[in-house]
Amino acid sequence: MFKFKSHTPTTSNIAKLLKDPRIEFAFQKLELLSETLMQEHIRICQIPAPTFSESQRAKYFYQRFSELGLLDNKIDLAGNVTACWPSPASNYVCLSAHLDTVFPDTTNCQVRKTGNRYFAPGISDNAAGLVGLLAIAKILVEVNLVPQVPFLFAATVGEEGIGDLKGVKYLFQESEYKNSIQYFVSFDGPGIERITYRALGSKRYKITFTGSGGHSWGDFGIVNPIHALGRAISKMANYQTPQHPASAYNVGIIEGGSSINTIAEQACMQVDLRSVSASELSKLENHFLSSVKQALIEENLASKYSDSQLELQIEVIGERPSGELSSTSHLLQTAITTTRTFGVTPYLDCSSTDANIPISLGLEAITLGAGGNCGGCHTLSEWYEETDRAKSLKRTLLLLLALAHR
Ligand SMILES: [Zn+2]
Repeated sequence: MFKFKSHTPTTSNIAKLLKDPRIEFAFQKLELLSETLMQEHIRICQIPAPTFSESQRAKYFYQRFSELGLLDNKIDLAGNVTACWPSPASNYVCLSAHLDTVFPDTTNCQVRKTGNRYFAPGISDNAAGLVGLLAIAKILVEVNLVPQVPFLFAATVGEEGIGDLKGVKYLFQESEYKNSIQYFVSFDGPGIERITYRALGSKRYKITFTGSGGHSWGDFGIVNPIHALGRAISKMANYQTPQHPASAYNVGIIEGGSSINTIAEQACMQVDLRSVSASELSKLENHFLSSVKQALIEENLASKYSDSQLELQIEVIGERPSGELSSTSHLLQTAITTTRTFGVTPYLDCSSTDANIPISLGLEAITLGAGGNCGGCHTLSEWYEETDRAKSLKRTLLLLLALAHR
C-alpha cells in the first residue's frame, strides 16, 4: 500500500508558488486557451506520424518551439525535437511527449466532431500529450516565468510498438542531455488522476517458421509454417497469467502464405509479453519460447517426409526495462501534492511509457495525462473530450515549477 507523507517540504514550496501573482496570471491564461489548444490539437493530430516516420510532425514541432520563443531548438540524431527555457544549462526539469502513433501513414487522421467528442486515430494518444507540451511552453514564455532550474522540452520519437522507446533511449543514453535531466515528466494521453511511477517491462519477439512450401494437394504432408504458427499460438493461449503481478501477452501480427491452395514457405508472428514483475515476465517468456520450440518439434514430427523439416528463427524486436520510482522520491511526492491541490485524488499506476528508461536508470521520472477524457485508444474509433484540460495543465505547470524551485 502506498503511503503519502503529508508534511514534506513540498507542501510549503507549493503554497508559496500558489501565492505568486505571475503563477496566478499563468493559470488564468491557461483557462482562456481552450479554443486555441483545440485548434492546435486538431492540427497536430492530422499530421501523420507512424513510428519510424515522425519527421513531418517533428518538423512542425521544431517550428512551433521556435515560434513560441524557446531556445536551443534542435532535431537530434534519433529524430527527437528538443528546446530549452529559459536557456541551456547543466541541469534540467524535462517535460516530454511522444510524437508517434500506432497508425500507418495511409490512415485517415481527419478529425471529426460529434457532440463534445473529437474522433480521429491518435487524437488522444498522443496528440493530447503533444498539445499539452506546447501549452506549457507557451504559458512559460508568455508570462515570462523563469524557473531556477531550466526546463527542457522534448517531443520524442519511437515510443509506440516496435519503436521500443527509441527516442527516449537516445535522450538518456546518447544525447547531449543524457547526464543533465534531473526530473523527467512525460505527457502521454489524456486524464488527470493517473501518475505512472512504475515502469511496465515488456519483451517483444518476431517468430518465423520457414519450410520448402508446395502445392496444397500435391505436396500435402510436408511441413507447414502456418500450421506450426497455429500450434505455437494455441500453446501460448493456454498460459494462465496470474492476476498479481499483472501480466499479459498478445500475438499482434501474423503474416504468411500466398494463396489458399499453396503450402506457405514462410509464416511469422510478432508477440508482445508484459508484466509488472521482472520475474513473472521471465516466466511468461520461458513459456512462450518453449511453446514455439515445441510447435517446431511437433510440426516436424508430423511431416510425412524426413527431408521436409521447418526452420525456426527467433528475433527479439523490443525490450523495455521495468522499474519503480521510490514512493518517497521528491518527484512523486510533489506530483501527488500538486494533484491534490486541484482537488483530484491521484491514481498511482504502472504502465509502459517513455518514463521506463529514466526509471530503469534510477532517475526520477513519471508519466501524466495531459487532461481530457478518451476512449478507443489505438483503434480507428479513438476519441477525445476536453474535460479538465486546463486543470491538468495547471497541475503540471505547478509541478514543474515546484521541481525547479526546490
Ligand atoms: Zn502514448
